[in-house]
Amino acid sequence: MIVRYGEITVKSPYVRELMEKELVKTIKYKLKRNKVNVIGIRKIPGRIFIYVDSSEKAVNVALNVSKIFGVVSTSPAVEIERNNLEYLRKFVLKYSSAILEKGDTFAVRVRRVKKYPITSKELERILGADILNTLQQLNLRVNLTNPLKTIHVEVRTRKAYIYHETVKGVGGLPYGVSGKVVALISGGIDSPVAAWLTMKRGVKVVPVFFDLGDFTTKEAIKKALKAIKKIREWAPSPEFYFYKIPFNIVLEAITRNVPVQYTCIFCKILMFKIAERIAEKEEAKALVTGESLGQVASQTLDNLYVISRVVSIPILRPLIGLDKEEIISIAKNIGTYEITAKSIIECKASPVFRGSHAAAHTRNEIIDKYKDKIHFEELVMKSLEEAMKINLP
Ligand code: ATP
Ligand code: MG
Repeated sequence: MIVRYGEITVKSPYVRELMEKELVKTIKYKLKRNKVNVIGIRKIPGRIFIYVDSSEKAVNVALNVSKIFGVVSTSPAVEIERNNLEYLRKFVLKYSSAILEKGDTFAVRVRRVKKYPITSKELERILGADILNTLQQLNLRVNLTNPLKTIHVEVRTRKAYIYHETVKGVGGLPYGVSGKVVALISGGIDSPVAAWLTMKRGVKVVPVFFDLGDFTTKEAIKKALKAIKKIREWAPSPEFYFYKIPFNIVLEAITRNVPVQYTCIFCKILMFKIAERIAEKEEAKALVTGESLGQVASQTLDNLYVISRVVSIPILRPLIGLDKEEIISIAKNIGTYEITAKSIIECKASPVFRGSHAAAHTRNEIIDKYKDKIHFEELVMKSLEEAMKINLP
């Protein structure tokens, strides 16, 4: 199995080695976790090779590895001796006869290390001619611009590799190489996607979930936990945990003291403040949310402004430039859509539920006016005391 990785190769040698090591580590972890036994893993400059003893295993490895952050593509391949040209030609012919079918158009593509005595072009011609001459009964045609099938031959310093298929990987950077963030994850469509996009850039996430208690439903809580579990599957590391914060008391205080149109904004401000404290404890360097712009009335630039002002930690909003369609499409690809798409009552404290609507433009003065009334700091402290750290091995 050939594993290719992208952006890592443009980093400085030191960073590159660190990232390559991390990538190999995450591959090993994921294969072990999903009980895929392999014979060995070898890293050469620019590539990782995973050795398996059957083609079914290769398929399984490809499925797992293509979902590891940092992997650009994978190809099931056969490794053979490279120094005996006769043997190489025979082997490529045998390989091709198993792949090519009557009437196919094909091409042979060769890449070789500089020291190999034959140039890539020459070898392509030799191998192409072998195939055409020997498999005449198949009526094959060479097509170099848009072939139906391509036989790839990579001649490296020690061995040669033959393959014809490439599976696209998820891309990004190896998990954890870019540091750590706290991700606010609800049971909605957006926040798991936001967390995932951040993870894709090499960031470790610590999810935080606010349990709205009596203000929500059991289904809504289950949905959020399922979404967090799904996100966990994407994290190729043995350690993973999240925080569950009881939020009932906070919503009681808000609904009792704050005009209904500001419920959502106060709710968010408290969530952000508590998440910031957790980030401090976790030495996480940012918060991640599923906020977008203009999606719902509460997500206007004015509101994002007043919410952001309450914390000093950076807030990452990876969905800011995405349309709902685009978010849904990612959610489907990463497996969170089926969990989060179900529409159920999520918050009974919301203005909509209480027959009103959320203020689209909140001013800082409003926040300051009601902050004392709800005993803001005390609420934050109390919620943190009751926070539960839950392991998801
Ligand atoms: P989502 O689809 O992620 O629920 P949303 O479009 O419903 O987002 P809001 O309800 O305005 O948007 O929430 C904005 C963001 O605040 C969410 O994307 C999420 O990051 C965070 N958030 C909201 N509710 C919770 C919760 N109960 N626990 C943790 N984070 C939450
Ligand atoms: Mg939501």
